[in-house]
Amino acid sequence: MTKTDECLAKLSKLLSAGSIVHGDELDRVTSYWDSAPARAVAMVSPRSTEEVSEVLRICFEHGQQIVTQGGMTNCVKSADPLPEEIILSTEKLKRIEVIDTVGGTVTVEAGVVLQTLQEACLEKDMVFPLDLGARGSCTIGGNVATNAGGINVLRYGMMRNLVLGMEVVLADGTILSSMNQMLKNNTAYDLKQLFIGSEGTLGIVTRVVLRLFPKPLSCQTALLAMDTFNDVIDTLKKAQRELGGTLSAYEVMWGNYVRGVTGETGHAAPMSRDFPFYVLIEAEGSDPTSDDERFQRLLESIYESSVIVDAVVPKSETERLSLWKIREDFECILEPEPFFLYDVSLPIVAMDEYVSRVETGLTEKWPACEAYVLGHIADGNIHFFIRPNAGTEVTHLHEDCDGVLYQDLKQYHGSISAEHGIGMEKKSWLSESRSEAEINVMRAMKKALDPTNLLNPGRVF
Ligand SMILES: Cc1cc2nc3c(=O)[nH]c(=O)nc-3n(C[C@H](O)[C@H](O)[C@H](O)COP(=O)(O)OP(=O)(O)OC[C@H]3O[C@@H](n4cnc5c(N)ncnc54)[C@H](O)[C@@H]3O)c2cc1C
Repeated sequence: MTKTDECLAKLSKLLSAGSIVHGDELDRVTSYWDSAPARAVAMVSPRSTEEVSEVLRICFEHGQQIVTQGGMTNCVKSADPLPEEIILSTEKLKRIEVIDTVGGTVTVEAGVVLQTLQEACLEKDMVFPLDLGARGSCTIGGNVATNAGGINVLRYGMMRNLVLGMEVVLADGTILSSMNQMLKNNTAYDLKQLFIGSEGTLGIVTRVVLRLFPKPLSCQTALLAMDTFNDVIDTLKKAQRELGGTLSAYEVMWGNYVRGVTGETGHAAPMSRDFPFYVLIEAEGSDPTSDDERFQRLLESIYESSVIVDAVVPKSETERLSLWKIREDFECILEPEPFFLYDVSLPIVAMDEYVSRVETGLTEKWPACEAYVLGHIADGNIHFFIRPNAGTEVTHLHEDCDGVLYQDLKQYHGSISAEHGIGMEKKSWLSESRSEAEINVMRAMKKALDPTNLLNPGRVF
């Protein structure tokens, strides 16, 4: 019997039927971005922290490598299994344990889908403010492990700002439980921070305590068209100043993105598709009358100063959602392959120049290249969808495309990953954004917590 067989036999004894699958049964395990079925030793789906701990203890004894999977929506190939790995899925860690409306916290298991949690909180007149396009599939554990960002970061911060407590299982099966519920707790090192954004390489998150906020009572939304990126920045500053802290989203779409996702094969265009920039702006407050008036005043003043050249204000929730679909549903530009998705951050003042340099660099290399640009720019974050259209004979396409995107970032003090992490896809570029000293400390942390490299090996480093 090989070590792997022994490990599998012990896991089968531990877990109930249906909590361990292998062979063709793994065909259902695919990622959001790739429908190819997973190939791995097996997939286990423990039902509690204790079961995760037992699974890890057995794997530790047998030197068995593991990859953790949540909703499989990550964009950097960090949860795609390798054939020699066991997949640990959090799909059965699904309990929302307690919603504390007084303390403003929720205690939740790692496999709960983000949208499920958002809806459960809304029923109690509370809001869990992390929000992103993958809300219907991504899990809280995945959000923690990637330090997810999304559309409300400018008001509520990233996942790191929303986690109060955490339970995590280490590579040898040790349960590290720090289920703190308070905003203030300075009892030495804040261990949970190690695991937030660690992409499953340091431990498996099983439960968390998250911050909640009172449900907003008003929402104002508009889609604005503008001619220049300076207008986009000026309007952001004005909105931050004049909306009295209610600005919750400021999503910028370059004209090429809106033209790509609207029209015959996409969404209905709510205004001309020919403008250089579109901004989806949203504010949420607690006083519907004065919030509406303040938002209206903002729109009028920027319209009068000719900064916005056109605007659409939705008259119903259905119209509001159809504007958000333009921002979030980009399905129609994903075909044909190959296309590459990028997520970078850099100071907002450098963005316009950087985007122009990237566009020039791409068309110099591949004249028929399509590049769609959008971003949560208030937090310095932009995304590119790039289809080089280079012909089938071209090799190293992805690496060459990476080169165009990343080569200039350093000079702008930018980052090769704003919110998607490193995974397997960006690891060869990590040193562009992190110094040797930083990477050495990261490696030392990995060695201390996972000395035999069992958790998500080959991701990040
Ligand atoms: C349409 C779309 C829009 C998106 N928009 C955004 C956005 O605006 N902002 C943003 O930040 N991201 C965005 N993403 C990326 C993705 O949704 C996030 O990275 C998300 O947090 C991943 O969660 P997941 O459950 O799918 O994790 P997975 O993809 O399953 O895993 C991601 C990583 O976390 C690890 N992991 C998962 N669960 C655990 C756990 N319990 N313990 C330890 N490690 C774990 C995995 O091993 C892997 O390394 C988007 C993706 C899509 C498809």
